[in-house]
This record gives sequence, structure tokens and C-alpha cells, in this order.
Amino acid sequence: MSKPHLLMTGPMMPAIADPLEAAFTVHHLDQVPDAEALLKAQAGTIEAICTGGHTGVKTDAAMIGRFPKLRVIANFGVGYDSIDTVSAAKRGIIVTNTPDVLTEEVADTAIGLMLMTVRELDKAAHWLRDGNWAKHGDYRLTPGSLRDRTLGMVGMGRIGQAIATRAAAFGMPIAYFSRSKKQGVPYPYYSDLIEMAKNVDIMMIITPGGPSTKNMINADVLKALGPQGVVINMARGSVIDEAALIAALKSKTIMSAGLDVFASEPNFNQELLKLGNLTMLPHVGSASVH
Ligand code: NAP
Repeated sequence: MSKPHLLMTGPMMPAIADPLEAAFTVHHLDQVPDAEALLKAQAGTIEAICTGGHTGVKTDAAMIGRFPKLRVIANFGVGYDSIDTVSAAKRGIIVTNTPDVLTEEVADTAIGLMLMTVRELDKAAHWLRDGNWAKHGDYRLTPGSLRDRTLGMVGMGRIGQAIATRAAAFGMPIAYFSRSKKQGVPYPYYSDLIEMAKNVDIMMIITPGGPSTKNMINADVLKALGPQGVVINMARGSVIDEAALIAALKSKTIMSAGLDVFASEPNFNQELLKLGNLTMLPHVGSASVH
């Protein structure tokens, strides 16, 4: 029997790619010179799509519409904001994602990015590597510290709770905002994001992307966070109004920010590189072999 045809939208690690290669006829969108020609040629054969946030390919209504035989879209990643689930549901196409398996890794990275940002650890590391320590003396004492700083979580789901557990162990007071109060979560709940922003020092964003959270962190939220405020985004680039963030970092409306995710990836807004009070990671939240 011939194997069903699968479209892989970008590179996948061997643990994923190898078993798929064994079970399917795999078409690699990122390995052909003309992706459009591949999509046209295989429109009538593709029954499955294997994708991931890191591939930068959106499985939107137009993409789904190309494949009349499509039965499943499997997203290697948490959430499904890059997939038009309404179009998929209308045709009974199954959509899967990988919650839970990444939780601990992303929570660790979130704490790492928060520490890097507040204590300027990436800049201190560059100070050493660039030979400045011996030439110009110690790296500066950082104005930022985790001491006496309240962490405001935007999103308190699986990963949010894992981050909060870690931050609580650091002795940080914690509060959170989401659309609903979470059962069994002991931290103060805010139903109003601006209200929470006024009362916390570091804002940690860990919600899904997609229309319901688009540009949720806007100029008003950043202003409410204030000049000692720090924003860490582990969620999706779409959750922050990036132009408002750049303006707030330039004008020192907030102190600093740390981003693991961007409005556009991997070709992110180059303006961000000019900001000395911004720490950036290339979307590595969950990126360990484990
Ligand atoms: P989850 O368990 O579904 O938690 C999502 C949280 O966000 C919930 O507290 C939810 O509460 C809140 N939320 C959802 N929509 C919201 C809205 N419109 N306004 C305010 N709060 C909202 O998901 P998770 O497993 O913790 O993952 C969270 C997200 O992390 C993923 O969707 C993904 O975007 C991101 N992520 C990033 C990386 C990385 O590498 N950087 C890796 C994995 C995941 P309510 O429903 O009550 O609002």
C-alpha cells in the first residue's frame, strides 16, 4: 500500500522527522527551490501537515484550502495560533499541539531571561568577551535587581504556574492577570491588566498568541508599569505592540525588556538591535534536546 503524503513546513528534529519519514511520503517545503510549485504539484495528495512555530509558515485558511484531502495538522509547539482552527474545524480536520512536554523548559528559560534582563547578564558577558574588563574595569552595578520586586504574570496556565513556582522560591511576591481566576492558584488575581501593571514591577507574558491577545501589551500598559518596570515576553511576539515597546524603551517609559519571541521571526525588526535596555533570545524557550 502506498504511504499517505505529508507536508513538512520546516526542519524538524530527527526524533520527529525519522518516524514520519518511515510512515509517510514526506514533502519538505523548506528543501525545494520552488515552494509554490511543490504546493501546486501535491495539492491533491497531501493528507497531513507537520508544522511548528519555528518554521514561520502559517497554516491559514488559504493554505488549508489548497488541500482537499487534508485530515490532520500537527503542530510541534504549544498553542495553535499559526493555524486557522476555524477553517480546519469546518472541514473536520484534526489539529494537534504539544502542551505540557515543554512546560518546565520554557519556565526555566523565562527565569533565565528575567535574570539576564534585570541584571544585564548578557551585556556583562559581552563586556568580558570584548576585553573590557581588564581595559576598562568592572562591569557597572546594575540599576535593576530582583529584590523587592513584584512579578506580574500575564497568563497563569501550565507554563505560567511553573514560572510562578520558581519565582516564589526566589522570594518574589507574585500576582497574575488572565481572563479567569484560576482554581487553586494562591496569588492575587487581577481582572484588569492596567490595574495589575500599576501594582507590579516585572511583567512576565505567557499567554497564547492569536487574535484574542494581539497587541494586548500596548502603550497604556507600558505607561502603567512605569519607569522601573521590566517586561519579559515568553509568549508570542504578537502579544506585544512592538512599536509601542520600542518607543517605551527609547523614552525610558519602562526600564528594560527581555524578548524570546518577536512580531516577525526570524527576520525581526532591526530597530530592536539599537536598544541598549533590551535583551533578546532567538525563540529558544523550549529548545533543549530533552
Ligand atoms: P495554557 O495552559 O493554555 O495557559 C494560557 C494562559 O493564558 C491561561 O492562564 C489563560 O487564562 C491565559 N490567556 C489565554 N488567553 C488570554 C487572553 N486573551 N487574555 C489574557 N489571558 C489569556 O498554555 P501554556 O501551556 O501555559 O502555554 C502558554 C503559551 O506559551 C503558549 O500558548 C505559547 O504562546 C507560549 N510558549 C512559548 C514558548 C517559547 O519557546 N517561548 C514555548 C512554549 C509555549 P484564561 O483562559 O483564563 O484567560
